[in-house]
Amino acid sequence: MTKLLLPNKTIGIIGGGQLGQMMALSAKEMGFKVGVLDPNEDSPASQVADWSITASYDDQKSIKLLAEQSDIVTYEFENVDASSLEKIQHKVLIPQGLDILKISQNRQFEKEFLNRLKLPIARYRIIETEDDLKKGIDELGYPCVLKTCLGGYDGKGQVVLRTSENISESLLLINKGNCVLESWVSFEKEISVIVSGTQDNQYQVFPISENIHRHNILYQSIVPGRVSKGCQNKAQKMALSIAKQLKIRGTVTIEMFVTFDESLIINEIAPRPHNSGHYSIEACNISQFDAHIRGICGWPLPNIYLHQEAVMINLLGEEVTDAQVAILEQPNWFFHFYGKKEIKKDRKMGHITILSNSLKGTLKEISESKIWNQRG
Ligand code: AMP
Repeated sequence: MTKLLLPNKTIGIIGGGQLGQMMALSAKEMGFKVGVLDPNEDSPASQVADWSITASYDDQKSIKLLAEQSDIVTYEFENVDASSLEKIQHKVLIPQGLDILKISQNRQFEKEFLNRLKLPIARYRIIETEDDLKKGIDELGYPCVLKTCLGGYDGKGQVVLRTSENISESLLLINKGNCVLESWVSFEKEISVIVSGTQDNQYQVFPISENIHRHNILYQSIVPGRVSKGCQNKAQKMALSIAKQLKIRGTVTIEMFVTFDESLIINEIAPRPHNSGHYSIEACNISQFDAHIRGICGWPLPNIYLHQEAVMINLLGEEVTDAQVAILEQPNWFFHFYGKKEIKKDRKMGHITILSNSLKGTLKEISESKIWNQRG
């Protein structure tokens, strides 16, 4: 259920990373008060929020405190335990709801849900034991990929099985809990589709983003993704059908593989704004974060359009110093830094968005810049 939330009311955000920070910035612009719960004292979101609670995500007392001090609660990531949110549901509105959270935080539930909607996914088996794994490999064949049902992200909690040599590594994963074994999808591209919803079942869909990963971390998003118009429409239709089925409030992201014959296979659902949607801050008439806040607050959403083609590139710890040098050299690049104090290799520290008149030229400009050389 969504009700209309007006400025000066308080939005509580669970999770204080960059997604929470950009949600908070949108909420502040719209006149809301913002509170954040995060285990780290100086989290990116707490730096721009009105107040914050420093506690772990499973600290029920602190989640209850957040609920008591907020008019609505939202979450910036899917690994917050749904059962701890169930306990505060009677105290505070959680407009995104818990269905999407429960589905997206468990790969088994996610696949069963997508199967029910008859949407295309990779063939898979649920794996609980070594025997299941052997049987699964026999049925799906090599290569295949084993993923933990709970808690994985950016390729963590995954083992790619190319030969029987990878089985021992896989057993370590199975010992931690149930897994899904997926057949390998030979894809040409990865794309994501972002949809936002608000009350009265109104939904808007963003342009397709083409996502290029390096070492399992998103490197670059190109928008609109370089797939045919027909493929873009099909992807948007699938994403909308998921949003409608789950009566999404706020922003949700559907990640998909595009095969060489432009068939689509859904990889996963993220119940929130997404790294691949950062381009929308500068390139669209409304950002994924503004749309999220509008949606959860019951404000209507505009039709979404792209002002200009765009490329978004992440800045990891090892790239920050060179990126800061580029501030002086690249007046047309939009620099975002998240305010994380500790610079670590592979840690997402910021991103750059470049609005483009020629994608080819912009991609050349990026590859000529030294910033991302170290990623290989
Ligand atoms: P995930 O955490 O499920 O998004 O997986 C991380 C990355 O691994 C994806 O972005 C893909 O590049 C790759 N990947 C995951 N599942 C498969 C699959 N079934 N076939 C091929 N590549 C995959």
